[in-house]
Amino acid sequence: MPKLRGAKQVSVRLTTREAEYLKTVFRLLSGREKVGSLEVAVAMGVSCATASEYLKKLFEKGMLERNPWRGVSLSKSGLREVNRIIRNHRVFETYVYRVLSISLEDACECASMVEQYLPEKIVDSMCSALGHPKTCPHKNHIPGGRSCC
Ligand SMILES: [Zn+2]
Ligand SMILES: [Zn+2]
Repeated sequence: MPKLRGAKQVSVRLTTREAEYLKTVFRLLSGREKVGSLEVAVAMGVSCATASEYLKKLFEKGMLERNPWRGVSLSKSGLREVNRIIRNHRVFETYVYRVLSISLEDACECASMVEQYLPEKIVDSMCSALGHPKTCPHKNHIPGGRSCC
């Protein structure tokens, strides 16, 4: 596992765990202006100190707009990264499910393992091959990529 990291990967800026926190912040925000570290801690099932530590890391990496102590929201980069991960997950999952006839549960689990690391080119090709689907098999919206209309 550690061997994979850093080796010819495409723009890997966050660790898997950091990406989980980023996605959680995104999910908790849903229309709200900011979310507190306590909410993040509860959602992640960790202590407030641990949540604050990760939020600080994300803040330092430019993913969050506000200081973790005052409640956070996503920065432009953070939003872009979340969208990229969500698109990767849903396109990959849809492809594996539809084209390879793998169960949705397995497709989703597998997508979770690779979502952060898939090159944009591959995801765009999968998206084209699928006819640019608007939703994944869970009926969740798939964010459009550069090649989508
Ligand atoms: Zn899905
Ligand atoms: Zn597309």
